[in-house]
Amino acid sequence: MNIIMFGPPGAGKGTQSVILQEKHGIKQLSTGDMLRAEVASGSELGQRLKSIMDSGQLVSDEIIIELIGNCIQSDECENGFILDGFPRTVAQAEALDEMLQGMNKEIDHVIVLEVDEDALLERIKTRAAETGGARSDDNEETLKKRLGVYNEQTAPIIPYYKEKGLLRSIDGMQSIDTVTSEIDNVVASQQAA
Ligand code: AMP
Repeated sequence: MNIIMFGPPGAGKGTQSVILQEKHGIKQLSTGDMLRAEVASGSELGQRLKSIMDSGQLVSDEIIIELIGNCIQSDECENGFILDGFPRTVAQAEALDEMLQGMNKEIDHVIVLEVDEDALLERIKTRAAETGGARSDDNEETLKKRLGVYNEQTAPIIPYYKEKGLLRSIDGMQSIDTVTSEIDNVVASQQAA
C-alpha cells in the first residue's frame, strides 16, 4: 500500500506517518528528514539546502524528484511507502506519477490532514520546545513563509488527486489518537476491498 500524507506544516504528517510505518510495516519517506540529514552532513549541497529551508522556500523539484525516486525503488519500500512532505508542487506530483508508472506501482490514498491555520503556530512552537529547537525553520517568521508557499504551490495539488478519486480528508484538529484511528479506517477499507 502506497500513501501520500498531505497537509500544511505542523498538520501532523510526520507523527501520523511514523505511526503508520510502525503499524503496517510500510516505509515513511520524509523529504524534509532526508534534506535535514544532508544539511547535518555538512556537505556543500547541505549548506545550500539549509539556506533555502531556513527561508521557508522549496528546494528545486529536480533535487527532490531524484531523491525520492531512489528511495521508492529501494527494497525498504517493497511493502509500500508513505510519502511525508512530497509531492509539494504539481510538477512533483506529475513526476511521481510518471516514476510510479515505470515501476508498475500506484498511489492508493492521499490523506489530507485538514487544520486550522491559526492553530499551526502554537503547534510549531510546541514542537520547537519539545525538540529543543532542533529545526531552524520552526519559528514564527519562517512558518508564515512556509504557509504562504503551501497555499500557493502545494495546495493546488489537491484538485489533481481529487480528480483521480484518491483524496481522503481527515480533520487534523482532533487528538492524535482520533486522527490515527480515522487513518486506520481508510487503510482498512482498502484492505477489505
Ligand atoms: P518538512 O520537514 O516536510 O516540513 O520540510 C522542511 C523543508 O524542506 C521545507 O520547508 C522545504 O524547504 C524542504 N522540502 C521538504 N520537502 C520538500 C519537497 N517535496 N519539495 C521541495 N522542498 C521540500
